Amino acid sequence: MEKYIKIIGDSYYGYWNYLISEMFYPSWHNYFWWLLGLSVGVWLLEIFRPWRENQSVFRKDFWLDGFYMFFNYFLFSLIAYNAISNVAVEAFNDFLGLFGIENMVALHIETWPRWSQFLLLFLVADFIQWNVHRVLHRVPILWEFHKVHHSVEEMGFAAHLRFHWMETILYKSAQYIPLAMIGFGLEDFFIVHIFTTAIGHLNHANLRITYGPLKYILNNPIMHLWHHVKVLPKDRPYGVNYGITLSVWDYLFGTNYIPHEGKDEPLGFEGMEEFPKTFFQQITYPFIKKKQHESNPQ
Ligand SMILES: [Zn+2]
Ligand SMILES: [Zn+2]
Repeated sequence: MEKYIKIIGDSYYGYWNYLISEMFYPSWHNYFWWLLGLSVGVWLLEIFRPWRENQSVFRKDFWLDGFYMFFNYFLFSLIAYNAISNVAVEAFNDFLGLFGIENMVALHIETWPRWSQFLLLFLVADFIQWNVHRVLHRVPILWEFHKVHHSVEEMGFAAHLRFHWMETILYKSAQYIPLAMIGFGLEDFFIVHIFTTAIGHLNHANLRITYGPLKYILNNPIMHLWHHVKVLPKDRPYGVNYGITLSVWDYLFGTNYIPHEGKDEPLGFEGMEEFPKTFFQQITYPFIKKKQHESNPQ
């Protein structure tokens, strides 16, 4: 037990130092400044080449989504999640140790060229995320968490990181075991992480981009807008276009849907009028909703 408390303590202390150095010493290997730079860059594109010209530069929920962005990217994912996951990883390894398993690495790819290691990491991680995303739409209790992301009414870059912190836990947990078996360390995520952040920002931006023929590989603002539309096709009530960074899984598995450009399609979900509007209410909503259901089942 003491060991785990020490890990939590070290994680917070390590993170605090890390955050301070990130904020005050810009460098190429620095998430904070990359996120800031990408956000400003995509925002400038939205300002100078908007798809929906009548959408305000400070669109609806701009500041709320900006807060989500920093909360999810730094305060949660790197502070709390780091501490929790360091403990979970240690506990998991201790658990495996009980059975005499010391190392989970099943596939040794250290000898592969570095670019192919990255490509494999990226493909595996993205495919897992595509599946987790489908599950978020399919399982009712998980959908209550995912509603935060779908409560966006006007798309803009910051909507990318508007989601409930529980999603970080779900996505990262689902990725951990397969990636640990391939033998990747977390440091390797940096380039992949920056690339996926850029594509994710663009997917939610008020920009008319499809990347030409690359649209069958890369997710894009037009395709992702259809993921957010309020009225789904009758035969696909759970959703369409689940892609995160890559669109290829949707094309391969037939979940792609772009009937037309959809520039002014209404966004959201059925019954959204009752969905709370503030950060605190939104992140407590799934838990309150669950309680209400337990005390008053239909
Ligand atoms: Zn979704
Ligand atoms: Zn989205």
